[in-house]
Parts: sequence; structure tokens; C-alpha cells
Amino acid sequence: MRAQPTASHYINGAYVDDPEGAAIESRYPATGEVIARLNAASHRTVNAAVAAARDGFRVWAATPPAERGAVLRRAADILRARNRELSELETLDTGKPLQETLVADAASGADCLDYFGGLTRTLTGEHIDLGGSFAYTRREPLGVVAAIGAWNYPIQIACWKAAPALACGNAVVFKPSELTPLSALRLAEALTEAGLPAGVFNVVQGYGDTGAHLVSHPEVAKVSLTGSVPTGVKVAELAAKTLKHVTLELGGKSPLIVFDDADVENAVSAAINANFYSTGQICSNGTRVFVQKGIKEAFLRRLAERTAKARLGDPLDEETHIGPLVSRAQMDKVLAYMQLGRNEGARLVCGGGPAEVASLPEGYFVQPTVFADVADHMRIAREEIFGPVMCVIDFDTEDEAVARANATEFGLAAGVFTRDLARGHRVVAKLHAGTCWINTYNLTPIEMPFGGYKHSGIGRENGHAAIEHYSQVKSVYVELGDVASAY
Ligand code: NDP
Repeated sequence: MRAQPTASHYINGAYVDDPEGAAIESRYPATGEVIARLNAASHRTVNAAVAAARDGFRVWAATPPAERGAVLRRAADILRARNRELSELETLDTGKPLQETLVADAASGADCLDYFGGLTRTLTGEHIDLGGSFAYTRREPLGVVAAIGAWNYPIQIACWKAAPALACGNAVVFKPSELTPLSALRLAEALTEAGLPAGVFNVVQGYGDTGAHLVSHPEVAKVSLTGSVPTGVKVAELAAKTLKHVTLELGGKSPLIVFDDADVENAVSAAINANFYSTGQICSNGTRVFVQKGIKEAFLRRLAERTAKARLGDPLDEETHIGPLVSRAQMDKVLAYMQLGRNEGARLVCGGGPAEVASLPEGYFVQPTVFADVADHMRIAREEIFGPVMCVIDFDTEDEAVARANATEFGLAAGVFTRDLARGHRVVAKLHAGTCWINTYNLTPIEMPFGGYKHSGIGRENGHAAIEHYSQVKSVYVELGDVASAY
């Protein structure tokens, strides 16, 4: 398939190039080959994108909600019709197995466009009886939204930000990660074909400095970032200078607590999904797996047996379960943590190093890795690794598990496995995390708000909750009587 896009950027409904900008190479992580060459947006191009969005905003905010919804739902249909092509592109750009991208990337993006397309007609204010007079509220858009994505779910992140923003009547300038620049451009094409007016959704490529310029732009009203905590801090600082609204979806080191009455097979399935899906490059992953002592040996035995069956290999082969990491730099970082786990004294149950795939000797492959007997103070138990490295940690009591699960600066997600549903709800209520699961892990339907507590973020994506973050409320007091005045 042809990965090279028509041009690097998409502004005002058309592809645009900007040879002034620094080179960006997109590589296929399974081979290291360059699959597309692009340029970062210079400040001039970012400014042009914001100007296009400002003009697009005027048209879009005045478009009736029902029409806005119809455009979003048509775009969802276009993504669905192109799912295979978009999935192959996403696999080439990210290295994630086609088995995953066929169901979790453009498909999730389409669901999101569909969902928020349906919500546009329901965005209403309220009527407030003041006894004689009344007030009402209007839910109004914010203006130009700067949206910045990470590299693990490129088109999904673009849709999770664009769909609620557009549903509320905002215009968007999206900057993908420079590691995965391709699929956001296809989303822009689909939105144009669906009838979105020119300038309402724009894409600019670039590194962190392009993102920083976009975030600082005085005509941007809101910033929505998916990325690491350090980048979130920088973006929040920049946004604060011009008092912009912010949504931050950041990193995590989430706990998955398995009590000894849990169904072992289901708990092992969840731990596998929570650590090895997308080669472990998922923000909400349950990387600290707390296992109650009574179930520990059975859990570890089945985990090792089942992990041994994982098929690593060519991500374009639909039989492949685990693909490479996104880049050589990410591979080096993850391998360093695997070594660190050994040095810190954790017990290696399986994996622990680079993986050889004979047909793809240059790919960024690592083995799915499980450490047991991990202690809370170890760096592998405290820092986000963003690779397939699971830490299994023992515990005795419920209170102890909750306290240790909460002892982190992160708070993105958490999971609890138990057959005792009263305990499941009790424990979830005590966990400091924005997104929780009972007896499953990492499912993120569009209907359910998603986001973090503590350093894992501010604001929520998805569900009705996202509307709050892409709109503002105007209150209108209406006097029906005379105006009283002292003199
Ligand atoms: P980064 O924080 O490195 O980058 C995120 C995005 O921000 C990229 O597009 C990046 O551009 C851009 N950026 C970097 N510096 C700045 C800046 N100063 N101003 C504005 N934009 C900037 O994250 P990664 O791409 O490495 O993604 C991995 C991280 O994302 C992990 O920590 C993970 O947990 C988190 N994540 C969170 C999710 C959530 O929903 N909570 C979901 C997915 C990932 P460039 O890449 O070009 O440098």
C-alpha cells in the first residue's frame, strides 16, 4: 500500500506542503524502512492553520446541530468503509498488529464520530425559574481547539478529540506525533468528503516545538493533549500564559488487583490484555498486577503458559499477536527497564530481552516480559515503561492492596478481579483512578468517560462528560417585570 501522503499538512480543506519545515520520516517499525517523508510545519504554516480554523469556526458554529451531526456520522461511515486500508496504514505507521488495528483504531474513531454525531441534537441548556423572571443557559463552543496526539493510537486519538470538539461547534488544528503522522491526514480527507466545511479540521505535522507554537497561539481557545506527564506539564504551563482551557490525557502506572477468589483464567486474560496489547504501549495499562498470595502460584503458572503461546512477528500477518515497539528509541528504553528489573532483584518469569523474528531482523521487537516478586519501591513498579513489561506484586489484605495501589503520583486507571461483587465495588470506590474496571480491563467504549486523576490528567474524553470540556455555558437572565432602582 502507498503510505506517502499527497502532502504533509491539511489546511482549509486541502493538502499543503511546507518545505521550510524540518524533515520527518515515518518508519515501519517491523523493518525500520522509511515509508513516508514529510516536513514539520513552520510557524507560518501553523499560523495559516489557526487562521483557517478561525474562519472555519465562524461557519461551523453557525451550522445547525443536526447538520453538524449528519456530517460526523457520514465521516464515521467513510472510516468504516475504509477500515482495512486505514488499518493497514496504521499498522505500517505504528507497527501494531493488523489483528488489533482492524478492530481498535479507525473502528474506535468511527464509533466516536458516530456517538458525538448523535449527541449534537441533544446539546441543550436549561431553564431556571426565578419567580417572575427566569434565566436560561446556552451551551456554546469555545473556538479553535489545538489537539495534540501521542503515537500509540494515532487515528483513534485524533477522533477522540475531533469528534466532541466538532460536535460542539469548534474548529480543530490537530498535530499528530511525528512518529505517526499519516492517519490523521486520512481523517481530514474523510471529514471533507463527509461535508465538513473547509478550515474546520486541519492537520499540521511537527515535533514538540510545532506543538508548543500551536499551544501558545493567541487565537487558540483550548488545548487537548494526549502524551506523557512531562509534556502535559509543559503544555499546561504554556496554556496558562493565555488562560486557555486544557484537557490532558497523560501517562499511568495503573494497578490491577486480583483477589484470591477471582476466576484465574479471566484474571490472566485481563493481565495479558492490560500489558501486552499494542506491545504494552497503552496509557491505561495495568502494569502493577497485585495478586493475593493464595492465588499467586496458579496465576503465575497460567500466565507463563499462555504468554508462551503469543505469536510475535510480521504485524501485517493477521495471525500475529504482538508486533514491534514504535521506534528504536522506545525499544532501547524498554530493554533498559527489563535489565533494570533484573538488577533491582525482581524474579524474571518470562521474556526479559529483545525478540528475534527471523524474517524481520531489523524490527524493534522485544519479548513480552513478566517479573514476579516485585517490590513497591523498585523503579519498574513506579515508572511508566510503555512496553510489554508486567510487574506481579504480592499482597495479603484488601486494605493493604488499596493503600499500595494508591501509592503513586499517577491515577489513570485501575482494575479489580473478584467474585465478591460487594468487595469489587467497595475497592473501586477507594481507588484513586479516573477509569476503573471490575472483572475486566482496558475496555474503553465511547459511551464511558475516560481520563485520569492526579498526574494522569485533567478533563475527560468520551461520553457526555467530554461535552463539558469542549463547550462553555452562557447564562442569560431575562427580566419580565420592571427594573427596580434605588434612585
Ligand atoms: P509525548 O508527551 O512525548 O508527546 C505527545 C505529543 O506532544 C506529541 O505529539 C509531541 O510531539 C507533542 N509535544 C512534545 N513536546 C511538546 C510541547 N512542548 N508542546 C506541545 N506539544 C509537545 O508522548 P508520546 O508521544 O511519547 O506518547 C507516550 C505517552 O503518552 C505516554 O506517557 C502515555 O502514557 C501517554 N498516553 C496517554 C494516553 C491517555 O489517554 N491518557 C493515551 C496514549 C498515550 P512529538 O512527538 O513530535 O515530540
